[in-house]
Amino acid sequence: MQEALNVVVKWAVIEGLNISPHKTSIVPFTNRMNTDGLGPLTLYGKELTMLDMGKYLGVTLDSKLNWNQHLQKIINKAQTTFAVVRYTCGKKWGLRPNMVQWLYTRVNRPSIIHGALVWWSKAMQKTTETQLGRIQRMACLAITGAMKLTPTAAMEILLNLTLLDMVIQVEARMALYRLHILKQPANPKAEAGLPYIWKNVSDPLLEMRVDHTTPVYYYYYSKVFSVIMDWDHWKSKDPVFPEEALIWFTDSSKANSGTGSGIFGLRPNRSFSFPLGKFATVFQTKIYAILQCECENIRRAYKKKQILIFSDSQAALKTLSGPKVTSRLVAECLDALSALASLMRLPSPGCRGIPGNEEADKLARQASATPLLGPQMGLGIPKCSIREAIKNWTEMQHLRAWIDLPDLRHGKLFIGRPCKKRADDLLKLSRHQLKMVTAIYTGHAPVRGHMYTTGPFDGDPICRFCGMETEKEQHIVCCCKTLARQRYNVFGRVTVEPKDISTASIRDLCRFIRSAGFPWFVRHSHLI
Ligand SMILES: [Zn+2]
Repeated sequence: MQEALNVVVKWAVIEGLNISPHKTSIVPFTNRMNTDGLGPLTLYGKELTMLDMGKYLGVTLDSKLNWNQHLQKIINKAQTTFAVVRYTCGKKWGLRPNMVQWLYTRVNRPSIIHGALVWWSKAMQKTTETQLGRIQRMACLAITGAMKLTPTAAMEILLNLTLLDMVIQVEARMALYRLHILKQPANPKAEAGLPYIWKNVSDPLLEMRVDHTTPVYYYYYSKVFSVIMDWDHWKSKDPVFPEEALIWFTDSSKANSGTGSGIFGLRPNRSFSFPLGKFATVFQTKIYAILQCECENIRRAYKKKQILIFSDSQAALKTLSGPKVTSRLVAECLDALSALASLMRLPSPGCRGIPGNEEADKLARQASATPLLGPQMGLGIPKCSIREAIKNWTEMQHLRAWIDLPDLRHGKLFIGRPCKKRADDLLKLSRHQLKMVTAIYTGHAPVRGHMYTTGPFDGDPICRFCGMETEKEQHIVCCCKTLARQRYNVFGRVTVEPKDISTASIRDLCRFIRSAGFPWFVRHSHLI
């Protein structure tokens, strides 16, 4: 070991670096209990201290690489920072729910998931899931102001907050994808030494050919074509289509059967359609159409001629005129445009109603209806599709975890599936309203039946309105006869089913709770 250290010191001296013995310590990464043979090591005559952990770029590396110390540190840190957030809000006062949610997801959570690609395997353990679940619970309670016994899973589904261990896996996948892009075209499985991660958090989509690439810069002065976005300005020119110019129209189409591009040449009179399979995005098909126009011009050796290519996609044209390119397809298209030293003009987006454009549109439709023979992902998978696939995977996992949970009968009936719109609507409510709505959804409202079961209420748990059944959340919201009129006014029916509540708007539910006149809906009331 001393020899190895000497080699490092020698190398540092050659490179003009200086290693300070006061700031250097040794961490043996080994499972061996006995580390006698490893030391003592000396640097510039000073004996180095032996530690059982070290910190590098914010990740604590312990000598056995079991990530226990790292996890403990981030959990302590998250609890401390969230305690500060708790100072800003109570059950009935303080920051609005959306602000607390923002603080949690944008300030607290990133500090927890930092470096997830390295230690994600720890998050798969049951004990870690429980510890991370506690932090998430703290956040859910602070956001909703719900009662103490409210189940975390129900609040997570209501607020559309993914489980923390899943967020860590998502982060690991995204980091893996970034490595995949950097390592292309070499096989990342072999090159990056990540077979274990690939086996566990990979996705079949990550292994397909990607369209995303490291940024390539094309500067304005290196471009031999020009992009005209102002169609009105172009239209006022006389003549609109110069005599000698070659004119091409491009269009694309996306249908259930697939995608496709069509190009139509007014001069020369040529038309092509290209089926592009199911994975291509609209943006890719538009760029592909322009690329194919170029290829046709190059093939036909049309040089030193004015060429006009029309496209109705503002996004495609803006990307082609911009300096930074992160897509292989766009880079290929720009290279093709540069190879042909002609003036390119691409007016947009008002080329509707022009006969040539309608021809191109027809060709594109034909292409999208034609099944693609050959590999589906010919254009490469764009980054947004990968992000979408990972998001869908997370949502599926979250939903499955929710369905597989034992118990929580009331929550499953009333909440149903996670819904982003409902979560957004909930966060717009005031603290007090959100607390009430969460109580109804999760079945943990201060109604007599619930209070009687959990302990604080020892009277008769009969419904205070009709006096016929036990006063439970489901009875009051769905079928209490005394509240039939209020229910009819809001939902249009005398009785409702729990699944109707799960799809009803938050506004309606709030209106119903208010019109029912529960004593606990009145602010600062502690009446049962
Ligand atoms: Zn009743």
